[in-house]
Amino acid sequence: MVAVPRVAHIFALAGALSVSLCVCRSESLPSGEKTLVIFFTSDSPIAPVASSEMKRELGHLLQPAAIHVEWQDPAFDRSAPENDYSALVRLRGSCHPTEPSVRFEHAVNGPFTLAASAVSDGVVLPFGDIDCAALNSFLGPSLWREPAVIQEAVYARAIARLMAHELYHVIGQTHDHARSGVAEPSFTVTELLSDHFEFSEITLGELHASPEGTEYSGRIDSEDVSGK
Ligand SMILES: [Zn+2]
Repeated sequence: MVAVPRVAHIFALAGALSVSLCVCRSESLPSGEKTLVIFFTSDSPIAPVASSEMKRELGHLLQPAAIHVEWQDPAFDRSAPENDYSALVRLRGSCHPTEPSVRFEHAVNGPFTLAASAVSDGVVLPFGDIDCAALNSFLGPSLWREPAVIQEAVYARAIARLMAHELYHVIGQTHDHARSGVAEPSFTVTELLSDHFEFSEITLGELHASPEGTEYSGRIDSEDVSGK
């Protein structure tokens, strides 16, 4: 099968923009919780602390849209139980904070394509990629300035935000972007590293109202469209 054209959804801006977010969220959750099963793969081992932080952050981002996240390793379990959404997410490259010397060696100017989803005939397929080499170049010295003990967790949180962005396209079946929040078309370093960066209220409403994507269940095994 011919290679699926890939659409890059996130372009990071080299300049540091100051973005003010208004997260005006009510405490009550939307009714009718749905389940998203993520088939997760990574080219490099992910430390337990990073893995738990990544999962915690993604769950935190989607929970206000009443979407519950379950994680599966496709190497062990490719079955898709009864669920509302499913997606295959892959971390490409070496996905952990790099040594300062490596960062500077590879420091280049942006823009960086940090993550992408597969698209075929205009349809967003449930395959998302995070490009960790680009992420490392983008975060570069900014991440180094974070305390060493939390670098790994901060990095994992940034990955979760990139994942959430791609899942917004997959779940919402949209190429559009929001004006602010995790669904905006480009992220700044500040947004990726900040303590709080979330979907806007409008985007959460769109996610919650998204039709279920059960037609994807049979496509998870297809390697032709996994981005290789
Ligand atoms: Zn996008």
